[in-house]
Amino acid sequence: MRVTFLGVRGSVPTPGAAFLRYGGNTACVALAHDGAPPSLVLDGGTGIRMLDAHLGGAPFRGTVALSHLHWDHVHGLPFCGAALAPGNCVRVLVPSPDGDPVATLERGFSPPHFPVTPRDMGQWSYERIVEGVRELEGFSVTAREVPHKGGQTFGFRVEAGGAVLAYLTDHAPQALGPGEDGLGLLHESALELCAGADLLVHDAQFTAAEFPAVSYLGHAAAEYALGLAEAAGAKRLALFHHAPDRTDDDVDALLASLSSSGCSLLAASEGLTIDL
Ligand SMILES: [Zn+2]
Ligand SMILES: [Zn+2]
Repeated sequence: MRVTFLGVRGSVPTPGAAFLRYGGNTACVALAHDGAPPSLVLDGGTGIRMLDAHLGGAPFRGTVALSHLHWDHVHGLPFCGAALAPGNCVRVLVPSPDGDPVATLERGFSPPHFPVTPRDMGQWSYERIVEGVRELEGFSVTAREVPHKGGQTFGFRVEAGGAVLAYLTDHAPQALGPGEDGLGLLHESALELCAGADLLVHDAQFTAAEFPAVSYLGHAAAEYALGLAEAAGAKRLALFHHAPDRTDDDVDALLASLSSSGCSLLAASEGLTIDL
């Protein structure tokens, strides 16, 4: 499985010289089988526009699974050239507690909020995400609801060829209580998704020092992400969904402040590819 980070920023895109190394596009991760083009994309933040470069001009034929519908996870969808190119075949999986994925997506993706609707995206099809395990583009994908703030949110566990990726962007761990360190108790769904993962991609918008003042915003501290990775036996942790005010140097400093004996650490950057 090849994992390519197309957007790693949280909340809002961050252009500017201080954000060039980690990148300013919002959440999007592309997955490919070995030797094949990306066919499963997690989230449609502004980073999804970078998908074009990884397809060599070919149209996108695959699935986009949306963890949730906050702007930073859907904003790029209607601007992905490869997903709109002739010959595309795009299925979008949408959290939709009401059961109608088009109607749910349309609430933020129609006039006056946006000039077109999901029905105007050519041949795209839409399906509702529900909890459970299903096959998507040859990947085995487990979806579980995880606590966040403001709408149904899923975490994903993706398996192929013996490799396991866990993707928990936008996760607020305090749903079960603050825990001893005040960063949140480990959620059972998060533990299940991350168990033994080769790579855990996790919300690291805040730090433990920042957390008391910002925990209500629905995100995690990097220290919580590390604690979860260690408890679940994940081999690598990629800090993800970097706060929009956290410059490249700040991300470096955050990464340097963490240490683990059992889990290797990195900070996700736009364009980074990892083979699992
Ligand atoms: Zn987000
Ligand atoms: Zn969110």
